[in-house]
Amino acid sequence: MIVAKPEDPTLDPGVVDVLAALRQMGVVLDSSDAVVVASDAAVRHGLVRDGELVHQELRDLVREARRGGDLRDLTLDLPRGPLLRGRMLVSARASLLRTGHVLLLADDRTRVSRVDEVRRDFVANVSHELKTPVGGLSLLAEAVMDASGDSDAVIRFAGRMRVEADRLARLVQEIVDLSRLQVADTLTDPKPVDLADAAREAVDRCRLLADSKSTTIDLRTERAVVYGDLALLTTAIRNLVDNAVNYSDPQARVVVTVRRIGAVAEVVVSDNGLGISPTAQSRVFERFFRLDPARSRATGGTGLGLSIVKHVCANHGGDVRLWSEPGQGSTFTISLPVLADDDPVLTQLDRKAPR
Ligand code: ADP
Repeated sequence: MIVAKPEDPTLDPGVVDVLAALRQMGVVLDSSDAVVVASDAAVRHGLVRDGELVHQELRDLVREARRGGDLRDLTLDLPRGPLLRGRMLVSARASLLRTGHVLLLADDRTRVSRVDEVRRDFVANVSHELKTPVGGLSLLAEAVMDASGDSDAVIRFAGRMRVEADRLARLVQEIVDLSRLQVADTLTDPKPVDLADAAREAVDRCRLLADSKSTTIDLRTERAVVYGDLALLTTAIRNLVDNAVNYSDPQARVVVTVRRIGAVAEVVVSDNGLGISPTAQSRVFERFFRLDPARSRATGGTGLGLSIVKHVCANHGGDVRLWSEPGQGSTFTISLPVLADDDPVLTQLDRKAPR
């Protein structure tokens, strides 16, 4: 809390106490528009400089309150912080106090409005993505009806209906997974997980796909225990291995390495496939982003795989990095904080383990 003007005897000291207790931005101004008190948040957000309000919009709001205008909330898009870099969305209201001062209260709504925006985009994307398989199923159902006399055609169309239905099921499952990951910032019931186990399981689940393309998956592991969720970590590694197989030519070689480097556990998935251009590299972790939508669709991709990987890593206190060169291949590296061998969590676990 700063008091910008030398003690103002006309100001009710209770106002200062209230401002100190509020998390909101709060500023009290005297009749000459000089700032008498400003809360820490107001200073941090750059509302006040040299004893005055910085933004003209807020000065106008204060003036209106002084003229006895209605108390109303105003949403303003203002330059952010003391350096006025970036923007912030602020909801503000001003009211005239009995002492002749004006009290200005403001809330930073930037984060809330961004979350709303992301949610709106997500819903729009999801409806768009769902339309493709649903439209496909509807057309195929019509084709089956038209071909009712031709059993070969019926079998062919039914097979394609199953592919579309599988895609729909996978899309819905990944949307649910991603929503869960985004809602919970942390894990609900973390346990020690050896990434070597997660990688083995993930590679097993990709075997069928790899065999169908005669791709070799080379798995090299060492013990690397992290604190987390085995199912989520397995899904994340599987998404990377699936992609490595899908975005490489047949008979390619994919290498999956689990290693421990000091306090960091790493899972490295490398391929010598198509690679990703530098401009696309910064976007591949976005939801529904695909370099080649037709290829992704052909492989049953949903465009959500890498977004899920990113969120799983973040929820485990780690991250995922990408190196890639078009035509050379790609390497995705998951890095997570390792659980030390003498960590109490591990010792408790060992003690509980049946002999
Ligand atoms: P998808 O379901 O389409 O595979 P992802 O989120 O897993 O969705 O990946 C997003 C996009 O990133 C893919 O459509 C593909 O264009 C690109 N991509 C991902 N992994 C690789 C890789 N190993 N090699 C080349 N491109 C990749």
